[in-house]
Amino acid sequence: MPVEKRTPLPVGNAIERIVNEDIQSETIEVSLNESLNYILAEDIVATHDIPRFNKSPYDGFALRSVDTLNASGDNRVEFNVIDHIGAGDVSKKVVGEQEAVRIMTGAAVPEGADAVVMLEQTVEGDQSFTIRKPFNRNENISFKGEETQQGDLILEKGQHINAGTIAVLATFGYTEIPVFKRPSVAIIATGSELLDVEDELEPGKIRNSNGPMVAALCKKLDLPCSTYKIQQDDLESSIQRVTEALKQHDIVITTGGVSVGDFDYLPQIYEALDANVLFNKVAMRPGSVTTVAVAQGKYLFGLSGNPSACFTGFELFVKPAVLSMMGAHKRFPQVVQATLMDNFKKANPFMRFVRAQATFDGKQMTVKPAGFNKSSAVVAIAHSNCIMVLPGGSRGHQQGYTVDVILTESQTYEWDAFV
Ligand code: AMP
Ligand code: MG
Repeated sequence: MPVEKRTPLPVGNAIERIVNEDIQSETIEVSLNESLNYILAEDIVATHDIPRFNKSPYDGFALRSVDTLNASGDNRVEFNVIDHIGAGDVSKKVVGEQEAVRIMTGAAVPEGADAVVMLEQTVEGDQSFTIRKPFNRNENISFKGEETQQGDLILEKGQHINAGTIAVLATFGYTEIPVFKRPSVAIIATGSELLDVEDELEPGKIRNSNGPMVAALCKKLDLPCSTYKIQQDDLESSIQRVTEALKQHDIVITTGGVSVGDFDYLPQIYEALDANVLFNKVAMRPGSVTTVAVAQGKYLFGLSGNPSACFTGFELFVKPAVLSMMGAHKRFPQVVQATLMDNFKKANPFMRFVRAQATFDGKQMTVKPAGFNKSSAVVAIAHSNCIMVLPGGSRGHQQGYTVDVILTESQTYEWDAFV
């Protein structure tokens, strides 16, 4: 059989094709405590003002500002303390002339008072205190509704739920949170050379490192995943295995077998499943053979068997797909710019993704390769905190150039577009 000719697609277009499939997870409700790292499936509105009442931001005394007008260093003005309240309490007293209520942070400003004097600004006596400066009307008061007003849109559908989001949901009494379900993932490592982690090595064989690595990448996204038995390079049983995985999961990730070798069966498997292949060649190194297809409304990711290519394929293609299914507005990891600390003299028409170490030295961000960096490399992945992006073209890249860096160990999604 002649080798199939494939047309390489630019990385950005490949990602676009994936997210344009617009495969959506269903909406479910989870408890507030379980909602971390889900994506909100509905807009959330403020159920009341924040603050809900005028309150004191300090420990001090609530009084009438008019009574402080003549206060100075030479003329200390005295106030009688008529009540004493803590946070959660409401004074029943009305503050009158030269009167004050002792008040703690978070407590409601009593009726009659229009300013709060901090404890540190007073000299206390018995049931009284003096001050040495005038206070303005409204000084040191947190006003009802100054942060948010009832009915305000405070969180948006598509927003990633972080600790701050949970604080907001708790503030407004949301106990059950509408979110998009996390897709479940089947992980199938293919290759007749593969052994399980616990197996003794044999001639010609290697241990399956992609399976555990992809499972870990899924876990980082809190995705439920099942790792299937190592799949031998055999067409019939491979079709069966992938069909079964597709039935039981929302996403199927295979590693290996997407190239044009004699035992690379993934293209035939996609054909047998009547899958729509979105692309089978990407203008990138490593992982140019990465293939993504859709069958029965589900994504099939055919990642390269080469560990560095497999890792890169997950970061570039699986992540945005998962976040897209989960309805996230921000689907791409944080990209920063860094000064390249190494030379890549050889020009490459394809965009290169290099597992790298980014460091901020207090002044500038620098980046260098994380070690031996062929697509087959595994050790460099462990020493990397980022993937450096070297655009393809007719020139190489030299030390001192500024390059884009995808922060793979950062858990936040900061950008709404790829590079
Ligand atoms: P393939 O994509 O099947 O052509 O495999 C490319 C290279 O990756 C080969 O050298 C394989 O032995 C290696 N490889 C394939 N699958 C795995 C795996 N699960 N873990 C580690 N290396 C693998
Ligand atoms: Mg193989």
